[in-house]
Amino acid sequence: EKFREGLTKTRDSFVGKMNDLVKNYRKVDEEFFEELEEILISADVGVHTVMELIDELKDEARTRNIREAHDIQPLITEKLAELLEGAEGETKLKVQEDGLTVILFVGVNGVGKTTTIGKMAHKFKQEGKKVLLAAGDTFRAGAIEQLEVWGQRVDVDVIKQQAGSDPAAVMFDALQAAKSRNADILLCDTAGRLQNKVNLMKELEKVKRVITREIPGAPHEVLLVLDATTGQNAMSQAKTFGQATDVSGIILTKLDGTAKGGIVLAIRHELDIPVKFVGLGEGMDDLQEFVPEQYVHGLFA
Ligand code: GDP
Repeated sequence: EKFREGLTKTRDSFVGKMNDLVKNYRKVDEEFFEELEEILISADVGVHTVMELIDELKDEARTRNIREAHDIQPLITEKLAELLEGAEGETKLKVQEDGLTVILFVGVNGVGKTTTIGKMAHKFKQEGKKVLLAAGDTFRAGAIEQLEVWGQRVDVDVIKQQAGSDPAAVMFDALQAAKSRNADILLCDTAGRLQNKVNLMKELEKVKRVITREIPGAPHEVLLVLDATTGQNAMSQAKTFGQATDVSGIILTKLDGTAKGGIVLAIRHELDIPVKFVGLGEGMDDLQEFVPEQYVHGLFA
């Protein structure tokens, strides 16, 4: 239900345009497909993905002998669902059964990284886990305080040093604290300045190395946080981070704030990294596991 609600803007714009399309073009012809292509591209589905989708739709429509525009809707839904299909269970977080799970959050400033860490801490706490936060963004003014505000809100401790200190040292402290306090989950914030990409990527690598040295097999997840409202910018951020570090999953924030929720399809299809969670609002309960079927049904059902 929450998922459906969060997709309201996308659904209204997408479905509205689809309805107009079916009204204006009774027949499934070349013009129909051109119009459909435009609708999908304007929803940020991504040009490559759209081209592929349209080709498949044309083939299938021919094979199944679909000629009337209103008959093609189920086929479109089916094809969109196929685009989101990935390996079984790929959208699930890799949480350790025993011992500490370390999750590293990466992403550009402003995408909603701090908020997402707060929401995730809340989610794990509700599951009865012992959670700690690591204030690894020592660069951006106010980043540590902002994480502390979330820590207080969801009643979780934040391990920090002063602004400007070495993020790898903060991470070392946080790992020791997590071990000595028997924490289940350590959620690590990182810097998101992109003014000096090379520098930032080196910093992330160093942070990762410290984590792996202290806890073999960790970090168990490297989650890239992307802002759904930024469209193609989000795609290029994913490429930048993806080249520099092993991203194991994507969290797409602010899906509630965009009519262009098609970005989910572009990310899944063109980057081949699973979307694991979506942000559907600013509150602590507004983080949802991403379930592909729910997404497609949330759009059309
Ligand atoms: P950071 O710089 O990446 O840490 O970004 P913040 O966590 O400070 O978030 C930036 C802004 O986006 C804040 O005003 C958040 O409340 C807002 N925000 C984060 N996630 C979501 C979301 O899923 N939906 C909406 N509508 N706003 C969000």
